[in-house]
Amino acid sequence: MLPFTSDYLSYLLTHPSDSEYAQAELPGGEKIELIGAGALVITPKHFTNHCKAIVLSAGIHGNETAPIEWLNQLLDDLLKGTLRTHHPLLLLFGHPNAMIAAKRELEFNLNRLFCGAWHQGNSLEHQRAAQLAGWMSDFYERFALERLHYDLHTAIRGSVHEKFAVAPYIPQRPHNLSQLAFLQHCDVNCVLFYHQSTQTFSYHSASVHDAQSFTVELGQVKPFGHNDLSRLRALDSAIRRLVTHVRVDWGTVRYQQCHWYQVTEEIIRQDENLEFNFADDLANFTLFEEGELLATQGGGLIRVKDGPKAVVFPNAKVAIGQRAAILVKAMSRSQCQHLVNS
Ligand SMILES: [Zn+2]
Repeated sequence: MLPFTSDYLSYLLTHPSDSEYAQAELPGGEKIELIGAGALVITPKHFTNHCKAIVLSAGIHGNETAPIEWLNQLLDDLLKGTLRTHHPLLLLFGHPNAMIAAKRELEFNLNRLFCGAWHQGNSLEHQRAAQLAGWMSDFYERFALERLHYDLHTAIRGSVHEKFAVAPYIPQRPHNLSQLAFLQHCDVNCVLFYHQSTQTFSYHSASVHDAQSFTVELGQVKPFGHNDLSRLRALDSAIRRLVTHVRVDWGTVRYQQCHWYQVTEEIIRQDENLEFNFADDLANFTLFEEGELLATQGGGLIRVKDGPKAVVFPNAKVAIGQRAAILVKAMSRSQCQHLVNS
């Protein structure tokens, strides 16, 4: 018996430390297991080796509520039996305590604590990263299937591209074109190809478990109850199509619609004095020309080299030593075409 029949999110937000195991059978015959606070595994009665082990995570940052509400709705439909899955699913509500506090994080940025970085501290976020990674590892080991992971977020600021994905840097592995086509079905035409390893959740699943994974940014941060989930309609139908069919052919990438960027460098906050030379509410992907001044830090000037480049995720208030912004270079039409055809 599960301790809830619908709206798991409301249950979770009132029982954030309830880690009791529970299981039940869904109307469609799948088994559902509550394996810990914010973590559910759904296993279809029968599955073949064409199926995939799919992890959907939301709320790694507690105030990024739109994908959290969306995941709760998806789970509701599974509970009602109006949605049935052919694939094992692991649904993760990332950071319940930060959700309750309506904050991105309590002490540390949870999305920098994966790949073993959780060993470097004992905060709630360090413990949560270890827990989430453990559940993911158990799930992927339990099902010897192709692995997928979509880690869903919303951004602090507005963006020239409302939705975009960050592709983790796995240099030995070619880009999976079917995944890039899938993102287009989710209305995510903008992809940033990262240039180095990180400690994010999606980099963790890709590098440790060889999952096809992305961080997916789906619009701007809003409080619970203030999201227009119709903005996620394309993602919603693509993921429902993914889970209800054993195999989906996502077609080819429409490179004419691609806004793909190569990440070229990070601006790291090295001391107290980092100051950006642009407004606080600068939209993500705002373009800067060659030589333009981006920031001052420690008496030095940070200018655009090899421009034009766009600025993404600027945040001068991150902890010292952390990434304060990334700079990206737009890929040309022929570079996109080359990547698609390679
Ligand atoms: Zn986030």
